[in-house]
Amino acid sequence: MRRRSFIASVAGCMFCSGLTPRCLGGEAHAQDAIDFVLPEGEKRISLVPALHYEKLEDKRLICRLCPRECRVADQERGYCGVRENRDGDYFTLVHSRVCAVHVDPIEKKPLFHFLPGTTALSLATAGCNMECRFCQNWQISQFRPEQVDSTEATPEGVLRAARHHRAQSIAYTYSEPTVFYEYMLDVARHTSRQGVGNVVISNGYISEAPLLELAPHLAAYKVDLKAFTEKFYREQCSAHLDPVLHTLKVLKRIGLWTEIVVLIIPTLNDDPASNRDMFKWIAGELGPDVPVHLSRFHPTYKIQNIPRTPVSTLERLHAIAQEEGLHYVYLGNVTGHKAESTYCPSCGHRVIERFGYIVNRVDLKQGCCIKCGESIPGIWS
Ligand code: SF4
Repeated sequence: MRRRSFIASVAGCMFCSGLTPRCLGGEAHAQDAIDFVLPEGEKRISLVPALHYEKLEDKRLICRLCPRECRVADQERGYCGVRENRDGDYFTLVHSRVCAVHVDPIEKKPLFHFLPGTTALSLATAGCNMECRFCQNWQISQFRPEQVDSTEATPEGVLRAARHHRAQSIAYTYSEPTVFYEYMLDVARHTSRQGVGNVVISNGYISEAPLLELAPHLAAYKVDLKAFTEKFYREQCSAHLDPVLHTLKVLKRIGLWTEIVVLIIPTLNDDPASNRDMFKWIAGELGPDVPVHLSRFHPTYKIQNIPRTPVSTLERLHAIAQEEGLHYVYLGNVTGHKAESTYCPSCGHRVIERFGYIVNRVDLKQGCCIKCGESIPGIWS
């Protein structure tokens, strides 16, 4: 593997005995580009048996964790770069190897109908099973574990850190949690038993069996629905649309709280017709109460030549989503916009007032609008 630049994140000390200012000051991660040099003898990977794979002949195997179903030869890795075949056995290389960590408002995930005003201990390892040309965290998602700085964080250490910082939930986020599945499962098992909520911030590219195994330990799932066309998924993400829609249907079937984010990119996925189809599909298959966040694009990673999404485009799509019957449609990355707040679909009262990631007021009583008593779906306590 050749040397290349990467963006370091990380906090080396947080899981030993609490966080230091270095760990939690300022932005989450990915600030300073430095040359990558793997220090001699330093191990940036762990080696923990992987789940959800089948052995084939000649020490080959097939990974069943996500819809890619990689066929992996001995000494090779799957597409995500964090799972390796060693002598016919499969291993995850990133169990407990955290490369980004921060305490974030839950609104930043974004989850708007989940414990508003609380914080989530947010963590990631290297790796992803998609390659989105507009990835905002490409500095960790598109690199192998040897290429990013990381620190050891056991499930027990994660729980201690969450308690130390009074975080009510743990969020698996920034990169793609599916590819650090075994670690996520162990942390979620350990911490959910102690009353901590676990939320997954994902592209929804996970196979059904592992999702069903993980779900009992989770409190919420946020899915990035990148667009509503196969063309977009194929050309912009090197992936497919149908498996993501299937994940959304599974989440609906099992009743796990779900919110959807759509990043609206001018000229690529902002056409009213396909977005109308998407909103129709969401309302029909998942119901009108699923929160949908329409998020503003900023030039990043491989898409530098498209300007930020006009707010008028977002507002137009917001109106279409409401026409299609969705009750909770939000605009993201447009700080101060009235569509950051939650409105009662029955009487129109603003039941949660937000400004950016700040929650100014919650007018809910036991999950109901204080004006008219309408039940507002979500997890409120
Ligand atoms: S999790 Fe990784 S190795 Fe497994 S199928 Fe998906 S991309 Fe391939």
